[in-house]
Amino acid sequence: MNAIIAEFLLRHASDAKDLAQRAQLLAALTQLSPQRRNELAEAVDMVCRTIAAHGGKGKVRFALVQRGGHRCIEVSICDQPARASAEQSAESAGPRPAPADVEAAVIQRVGELVDHFESSGWPVAGAVIRMAQTLSPGFTSPTEAEVAEWSQLLQANTAIDALAVALRRARSLEEALDRAHRARELRAGLAARATEAEHLTMLSLVISKTKNSIAIMEPDGTIMAVNAAFVQMTLYPPGEAVGQRFDELLFGPSTDAASIRDYQRARQQGSELIQDLLLYRKDGATFWIESDLIPVRNDAGQLTRWISIGNDITKRRQTEEVLRRAKETAETNSRLKSEFLANMSHEIRTPMNAIMGMTELALGTELSDEQREYLRTVRSSSELLLGLLNDILDLSKIEADKMEMEEIDFSLPEVVAEVVKTLEVKAQQKGIRLETHLPASLPAVLRGDPTRLRQILLNLLGNAIKFTEQGEVAVAVEEQWRSDTEVSLHWTVRDTGIGIPAEQQDAIFEAFKQVDASTTRKYGGSGLGLTISSELVRMMQGRIWVESTVGQGSTFHFTVRLRWSEAPVALPASTPRALPRPADGPNEMLLAVPAPRPLRVLVADDHDANRSLATTVLAKRGHQCVQAANGYQVLAALARQPFDVVLLDVQMPGLDGYQTTAAIRQREAREGGHVPIIALTAHAMSGDREKCLMAGMDAYLAKPLRPAELVRLVESVPASTTSATPAEPASAPAAPEPGYDFQAALDSLDQDADLLVSQMSFFLNDGPALLADIHQAIQQRDAHRLQLAAHRLKGMVARYAFQQATDIAHQLEQLGRQGTVDGAEPLARQLGPLVAQLADGIRQYIRRST
Ligand code: ADP
Repeated sequence: MNAIIAEFLLRHASDAKDLAQRAQLLAALTQLSPQRRNELAEAVDMVCRTIAAHGGKGKVRFALVQRGGHRCIEVSICDQPARASAEQSAESAGPRPAPADVEAAVIQRVGELVDHFESSGWPVAGAVIRMAQTLSPGFTSPTEAEVAEWSQLLQANTAIDALAVALRRARSLEEALDRAHRARELRAGLAARATEAEHLTMLSLVISKTKNSIAIMEPDGTIMAVNAAFVQMTLYPPGEAVGQRFDELLFGPSTDAASIRDYQRARQQGSELIQDLLLYRKDGATFWIESDLIPVRNDAGQLTRWISIGNDITKRRQTEEVLRRAKETAETNSRLKSEFLANMSHEIRTPMNAIMGMTELALGTELSDEQREYLRTVRSSSELLLGLLNDILDLSKIEADKMEMEEIDFSLPEVVAEVVKTLEVKAQQKGIRLETHLPASLPAVLRGDPTRLRQILLNLLGNAIKFTEQGEVAVAVEEQWRSDTEVSLHWTVRDTGIGIPAEQQDAIFEAFKQVDASTTRKYGGSGLGLTISSELVRMMQGRIWVESTVGQGSTFHFTVRLRWSEAPVALPASTPRALPRPADGPNEMLLAVPAPRPLRVLVADDHDANRSLATTVLAKRGHQCVQAANGYQVLAALARQPFDVVLLDVQMPGLDGYQTTAAIRQREAREGGHVPIIALTAHAMSGDREKCLMAGMDAYLAKPLRPAELVRLVESVPASTTSATPAEPASAPAAPEPGYDFQAALDSLDQDADLLVSQMSFFLNDGPALLADIHQAIQQRDAHRLQLAAHRLKGMVARYAFQQATDIAHQLEQLGRQGTVDGAEPLARQLGPLVAQLADGIRQYIRRST
């Protein structure tokens, strides 16, 4: 479609502008964009002016051409003829400026302005310079008539002017088009905004309909906006909430302090926080939310907002609270039950003490066969009762989580031997063989709780014998594994008894569960033994299980972990601990023969029956006993004469066993000596032993007392080193003791010695009782009772001019009068030894004067 539109001559520099205008006109006719038109015009102008500037002339052709598959308009300029003539008539044309630099710059610039630029050989004269702009693909080729018309338009000067006007119009049209374009863009923008607005409407719908409260806040926590749920939860209308600080508006006295701290910290650090919060409504009522506090940041990372989202969890919290209370109540009830059981066991043990002890004593006397049989039945029934009592106590300890394990060195073979010895008689009576398999490779001495291990073995072996009519029962142990610190033992107790049905084999480890639960069942028992054993095994990091076939027998397995002994060679011969319960045995024999070494024993217990039981038992062995009913009497007795051993009940009114021991040990620290003290305790809860030993006692014996145990322990204690000298009776009233003054008392009673003695016996009766009363009043925080008891005691001690005691009693009385018992305890403790000292002195005085 190549077509020449028009040709012109370039003669002067002034033609350049004209030619540039024509180029622009053609560009407009061929629908080039204004910018591309201008660029073409500028290129034409530049080239023409360059040629003309150094005297060149040329022919300028405007054409439509095809280039590389694209249609273009082309402006070609051939400067050769003019230039050649210019060079030939250099003089007339004037000196030619050095063109190279100028033209190089022009070539570069024109190359930038047009799509195609050829300057073959330019600036050498005769070169043809072509500049072309590519037309848009949508451009339709002009018809011949149009080409003719365009040619005319380009050549006519007037047409150029007309076209210039047309061009301006076109330009304004373009501008209008631009505006339309912009308007289109604007419309598109508006549409986008409308979509955004729709989004926002939906979001605000969600925010207004959600059940979660939402508050949007400034960085400092000031509320900027809230949603409907917020208003519903807090009862604050938006007008009242906005502008307030979230925490100041909603936190209150019951809001958890730690939660408030967390909230403040999160706000300071700008970090998200999820927490449960107790908040206050406008009407003062509280409610719980699960709060999510979210920081909002801008692109620069600066905190710009907070969003608080709250989910009302009041109902959930209330349910949790109810459950927590129920759990607490259940725990309290369980604790109360355990305490009740512990106390009951204590209460039952005291009379049991007397029943068993007296039975034992009675069996040691001359009896008819029938009587002996009755008493033996009493004894074995008491043993059963005591066993049951111990089981219930153990179970209560397990339930109260109070079961504790001892850790001492013990001999494994000894534990097994003791258990076997205990049950041997029963097995023999039933004609059952009792076998033990203890490999020699087992460590002989280990560390753990031998009493509890013995208890498990006694239970399993006892059951095995109980549920077996013929055949054998065997206990075996083997080492499972060992480490540097521990060894694990696997025990089996096998019998050839009745067996346990498969479906019952798990249940028997539960409390009170027995295979035969009928009331007419053949075998006795509480159903607690295996439950307790399971717990003990668990505490020794082991497990227990059973394999059994009905009619063939059962094998109970259990494992325990024990520590290596730190001193594996020898065991202390008399470890201060409760003696193992001996087998049902002929203790009558033991009591019938005198002890090799008669001892002086001080027996202290506030229960008459207990005192007389211990005294009778020990007297039968030839020991000399002195009785004391309370701690003061103990101290007084020890001051009077030396004893080889003191049996001391820990629970006595006034000075209890612990306080008495402390006083004895204090006195010994001053005066030397050491009298062995054996604690008698009815409280079989764990911790008693440690408490006794800590208090300075040497050994302890749990009640009910068994004569044989009592005798063994009393006779096994090392000899006393107490050098207390018995106070020699004096012929006259003692010289005034430091502290009290009997002479002053006698003076105050007009030298009536009988009256003094009767007053003194009042003191012996009432003094300790009043002191006990004081202690009880303090414990019960009964200030009035403290005042009365202290007042009476003050009067009593003042009679003997016992200033120190009088002062303390006076102070106690004052405290009571002020309605308080605070600070009374240490005073009462000081008073104890003083009262004992006075009682002591009084007794000596009475002995001397009667
Ligand atoms: P108790 O023996 O006091 O009833 P245990 O907890 O020791 O309580 O045992 C629970 C029950 O398990 C027994 O009553 C008995 O039915 C069953 N049982 C335990 N050991 C054996 C055994 N060796 N052979 C058969 N049955 C047994």
